[in-house]
Amino acid sequence: MNCRDCQFALPDLLLDPATPASLKAQAHIDSCAQCREELESLQATMSLLDAWEVPEPSAYFDQKLAVLLREEQAKAPAGWFERLRSRLLFNTGRQFRPALAGAFALALLIGGGTFADLSLSNPAKPATSATVTDLQVLDKNDQALQTMDLLLQDEGSADDASGVPAS
Ligand SMILES: [Zn+2]
Repeated sequence: MNCRDCQFALPDLLLDPATPASLKAQAHIDSCAQCREELESLQATMSLLDAWEVPEPSAYFDQKLAVLLREEQAKAPAGWFERLRSRLLFNTGRQFRPALAGAFALALLIGGGTFADLSLSNPAKPATSATVTDLQVLDKNDQALQTMDLLLQDEGSADDASGVPAS
């Protein structure tokens, strides 16, 4: 077993030292100071986590949450883009990872476009620091996304309106 495999096996070694993989890792650790150090550091982290106590939520947490939930449910349904965005933001399910990756790719595309536009249309622009440029690009992306959001919401409400049969 090499060091790389051994470091992947370290969590299993701590949790279940009796498995064959753990025994192999232990054999490597006995002969490798670097991996032994890694194991000790992991053990220290684990014991810190054992000692950590989860803070108790306040006594009214459940009631407050229930009230907030009822308020949210009573609100008018948001546009589909808003719903999609909140689903992406608050869902931890793996099925949305590809969509999230797509959204990031879109943001990168927009960012790249904005950046290219910036550098092409302003050749005489004084040099700014990379951080300032990044912040400007982020700002522009944010504005672009907000505009897109508004456009999509308008489109959504227009669709709703046209869906109502004229009397
Ligand atoms: Zn090693």
